[in-house]
Amino acid sequence: MKKYLLPNEGNFYKANLHCHSNLSDGVLSPKELKELYKAHGYSVLAYTDHDIFIPHNELTDDSFVALSGFEAQFNGNNKYPGVPNEKKCHICIIAGTPDIVKQTCWNEEYAYIGNVAKNKDKVKIDEKTSDFVREYSHDGISKMMKICRDKGFFITYNHPSWSLENYEQYINYDGMHALEIFNYSCELLGYQSYAPGIYDDILKSGKKIFAVAADDNHNKSRPDSCGGFVMIKAKKLKYEAITEALFNGDFYSSTGPEIYELYVEDNKVHIKCSDAVMISLTTDRRFSKCIWQEDGKFITEAVFDLNCECEYFRITVKDINGNHANTNAYFTEAI
Ligand SMILES: [Zn+2]
Ligand SMILES: [Zn+2]
Repeated sequence: MKKYLLPNEGNFYKANLHCHSNLSDGVLSPKELKELYKAHGYSVLAYTDHDIFIPHNELTDDSFVALSGFEAQFNGNNKYPGVPNEKKCHICIIAGTPDIVKQTCWNEEYAYIGNVAKNKDKVKIDEKTSDFVREYSHDGISKMMKICRDKGFFITYNHPSWSLENYEQYINYDGMHALEIFNYSCELLGYQSYAPGIYDDILKSGKKIFAVAADDNHNKSRPDSCGGFVMIKAKKLKYEAITEALFNGDFYSSTGPEIYELYVEDNKVHIKCSDAVMISLTTDRRFSKCIWQEDGKFITEAVFDLNCECEYFRITVKDINGNHANTNAYFTEAI
């Protein structure tokens, strides 16, 4: 019997889960961002301005879902603004339902990036969780992740390379739903933008998290939109259907290639995808599989035997331009 890892039913909706508007340090207005992304085939955009949670539900319609969110920062020296060589931690916090309109863990002290100070009066505050003092520590960061998670938010841990964070930091953060496996803005700035090794580090520690590719666009001088995205397989294009799929992990990440089908049957994982030069299976063991194109012919499907004792596996698809699609990790005990 087939077990679908990406649901068989529903449609794929293209999404960018990390973006900045002119309410913080981006250039485009929320409406202009909607137009830009819609013009490039996107159906979902998460508005994640720095440290201010301002929902844009008015932008949601039959062909577009505006997810409400913010990007919270922790500064290594707990002072603001930070200094160039200190560590930081950035997390995207996306509301699971459109009726969440209050900012969890608000603290005015952090509202200073770009135009944030000018717009802070638009924020509605959750009195029960504010003022929240953000302490840059394993416990401080995990505490905010937990509070937001319990309030129904989806948490992504962003761009560890830009943040100068390493194993000692990220392995001790508890409560994230996903790691940002690719950040297009970091790619354009020359940081390590692709983090499959960090994804494996966190998975091997037993945390069952997902992988998100995103733009983190600010739309300043360089075109930093439409480079990293997730394809969400959801029953319909409605806010809660989209976030339900996010919480379930019914999506994959990509910088180009598409994945059409992913399922397990008779202990074999099957994948169907757009034209690829390589498809690989990665696990937590010294056990991997990889097929490459031969004679210049693209590959569009693969079948990998799961005859190993691995705890999890995940699949990567690479196209001729070096772009990659990454599935989430699937834990074998659940299959
Ligand atoms: Zn950031
Ligand atoms: Zn950002």
